[in-house]
Amino acid sequence: MEIKCLNIWMTNCYLVESEKAAIVIDPGFKREKVLNFLKENEGKERLILITHGHFDHIGGAEYLRNETGVKIGIGALDEPALRDNDLNCAVNFKRALNPFKADFVYNDGDTVTVGDIELKVMLCKGHTVGGVSYLSEGFVFTGDTLFKESVGRTDFKGGSFSELETSVKKLYTLPDETVVYAGHGESTTIGHEKQYNPFVKG
Ligand SMILES: [Zn+2]
Repeated sequence: MEIKCLNIWMTNCYLVESEKAAIVIDPGFKREKVLNFLKENEGKERLILITHGHFDHIGGAEYLRNETGVKIGIGALDEPALRDNDLNCAVNFKRALNPFKADFVYNDGDTVTVGDIELKVMLCKGHTVGGVSYLSEGFVFTGDTLFKESVGRTDFKGGSFSELETSVKKLYTLPDETVVYAGHGESTTIGHEKQYNPFVKG
């Protein structure tokens, strides 16, 4: 399996590819490179996954679906943010997204199967009302819940630091060597964050 990180407008979009699967995680902006990734992998099972409903993580999803027919999945509680420029924070940054709907919504503990890749859904509230992390053996996509030596903001609509803290502590139960692919910034590991994260102590 190969995981590539594209940094687009300071936000990480991940391209996950295996023998039988191609997954785009958090396509925040329209980019031909991301579209081409899905097109090049047409023969595989494909999916667009969203960690949480903020404009900088969802803004390219509808475009990709229109161009390729690939479906979109998001945590159930954050799905309404796809149609609400207040909830998805576009308004805060003087932007406006066209409203759209997800094809799949996930709840805590669900398993997402795409070809030969299985991802477990972990509800991670706090940065938004219903953000999720997607985890597999050895790595986890945390969106804006956990960053390298930092955590997501909790001052946007639906944010709560105590909920975020609970979510980060859930992530801390993963094995120390688990690689954290965050929504912004460099990747890290669970062990590193338990030791050095100044916002939530391990
Ligand atoms: Zn966010």
